[in-house]
Amino acid sequence: KRQLVWLRSDLRIDDNSALAAAAAKGPVVAVFLRSIPQWQAHGHGANKLDFWARGVAAVQTALNGLNIPLLHRDIEDYDQAPEALLTIAREHAIEQLHFNHEYALNERRRDRAVADAFKQAGIAAHGYHDAVAFAPGSLLTGKGDYYGVFTPFSKAWHKQVSADQLALRDTPTVQTPLDIASDPLPALPALESPPIDGRLWPAGEHAASDNLARFLRFRGRHYNAQRDLPNVRGTSELSPYLALGMISHRQCLQAVMSENGGHLADGDVGLTTWVNELVWREFYQHVAVGFPQVCRCQPFQAHTKQLAWRDDDEGFQAWCEGRTGYPIVDAAMRQLVTTGWMHNRLRMITAMFLSKHLLIDWRRGEAFFLNHLVDGEFCANNGGWQWAASTGTDAAPYFRIFNPTTQSTRFDAEGEFIAQWLPELAELPAKARHAPPQDLLTDIDYPPPIVDHKAARQRALAAFKSLSK
Ligand code: FAD
Repeated sequence: KRQLVWLRSDLRIDDNSALAAAAAKGPVVAVFLRSIPQWQAHGHGANKLDFWARGVAAVQTALNGLNIPLLHRDIEDYDQAPEALLTIAREHAIEQLHFNHEYALNERRRDRAVADAFKQAGIAAHGYHDAVAFAPGSLLTGKGDYYGVFTPFSKAWHKQVSADQLALRDTPTVQTPLDIASDPLPALPALESPPIDGRLWPAGEHAASDNLARFLRFRGRHYNAQRDLPNVRGTSELSPYLALGMISHRQCLQAVMSENGGHLADGDVGLTTWVNELVWREFYQHVAVGFPQVCRCQPFQAHTKQLAWRDDDEGFQAWCEGRTGYPIVDAAMRQLVTTGWMHNRLRMITAMFLSKHLLIDWRRGEAFFLNHLVDGEFCANNGGWQWAASTGTDAAPYFRIFNPTTQSTRFDAEGEFIAQWLPELAELPAKARHAPPQDLLTDIDYPPPIVDHKAARQRALAAFKSLSK
């Protein structure tokens, strides 16, 4: 009896819960619904769409190797998903549908509509919690609430996680060929701006597992010491692959355990710190389900709704274009626009600069990031932005406002990252790159700071203090 697997942000054949479950029941047909207008409406830009398309091509090749055909349908928006899938199910005499859950609100609504439509049609639909160890709602505080703070979430995660939850799912074996051919994959339509060079981020699970292996071999044990240094390649750069499921958190965690004597929380501090980043990822997925207001453009902390964000198009533009006069901020923004990725320390610095120094609504920054990031993912991006803007979960009290210059001298001590992305400042002595004195800039086209740190800090503090809780 034929099984239909609906692939979404789980573009891999190894360790894929829905695919493994389907293959255990019968011959598998796979389908991908491309929803470009819907994804654009959600804010995804060319880099992510291109990476997505290349990921689908890679998984189609892998599926073909198992004789699993991958069908491809274009839909305008999620409302068309139930009909598109039911049509395929009827055409190919499908017995059951299988998919891995996604946790942002619109995706959950879409999946509920699909499950309802299949139920009405008498075809079973199964969802799997594949992207997380704990299904949202199954890891709760003592009072039965979703966690709104990371540290207790992480403690509970480590305490309760079981070997079963982290066990790799079976890769399907090669099946007898069906009389169904894979669809040719259509090219990506012309987009408003072209994507970055795809060679920066080769798609597919081979690229992802190579990245993981290299990271663990060469950098994993130094992660704790190097992860905050933007000029050092100290992190895994796996985020685009995790965001589209070209690698799973289980594969990452299993690889850590085999390097670390079977442990996730004890042992090498580099490796265990890295594990916690994967737990952060899961935390924000739970937050999206437990506090759905964050999916409706609302702050996690309701009282910050009243915050008087400034209307400052010029300031926003300067931030987007890397012309704020704060070299670390500008270098970071250029890294984002050029590579589709930004170092985590810099995401925090730039997000805090926009939301605190410029006091510009974090939602504008969130949208700009999503439009450029190749790893753009709603839960992590929203979580990161709300953290930086002090409207979100966790301990980013509003009075903690990074001084960009201090951050720069601390984490890019020799100004090497600045020199790489702002070549106009490369000629300056290293120490002068963090806050170039005006007299060194006479022949250099680089703007003076658009805000004064102290004054901007006071303005942000006053805006937050005026909120009543
Ligand atoms: P590593 O340090 O190697 O971490 C391993 C993995 O853990 C990452 O690939 C990622 O999947 C996960 N992870 C790490 N840090 C976080 C975090 N703080 N929150 C959630 N997951 C995390 N991450 C995204 O994947 N997509 C986004 O759209 C995104 N937007 C962000 C926006 C802001 C303002 C901030 C502060 C952070 C954002 N992050 C986002 C989280 C983090 O910056 C990136 O995951 C990380 O920089 C990716 O690099 P890496 O793969 O080398 O990470």
